[in-house]
Amino acid sequence: MIAVGGNGSKRVAAVEALSTTACALCGLDDDKAVHLVARSRDWRVVRVLDNTDHPAFWRVIWNEHAAELTDLVPEQRSALMQVVCKVEAVVRRELQPHKVNLASLGNLVPHLHWHVIARWSDDPHFPQPIWGERQRDPAMAHQMRLEVGLPRVDRAIQADLMNR
Ligand SMILES: [Zn+2]
Repeated sequence: MIAVGGNGSKRVAAVEALSTTACALCGLDDDKAVHLVARSRDWRVVRVLDNTDHPAFWRVIWNEHAAELTDLVPEQRSALMQVVCKVEAVVRRELQPHKVNLASLGNLVPHLHWHVIARWSDDPHFPQPIWGERQRDPAMAHQMRLEVGLPRVDRAIQADLMNR
């Protein structure tokens, strides 16, 4: 965790540490938390395994440490967004969600990444963001059907990203 508040130099040191050694997205991915779907020199796509409320959840991560989209040159930005769009397109085609949420926050892990999350109107947080207030319990039958189909979606994402 970063110390918030306190004296300025401590804070800078904490942020610097986070930007190098302590950055969770610079290190190796935890294979209990995410499943690697596709990877290139510049980016990788993982499926998030540790959010049981929202299993249809992928993350597009820029491999090099960069905090903001504007830290990338325009070609890199557009390459990253192309990957985000391809993942979104496959998720729509394969799962027909009611909505796809794209989010890039990075407040806790300031390393550029996009969340691509399939949403249904009866999911635990809809219409709130998945980090918002929980609205209801998930429909278990839907969740189970969804989870069974997710490796197929991963393969479709992989195939689409390789046919660039
Ligand atoms: Zn990083």
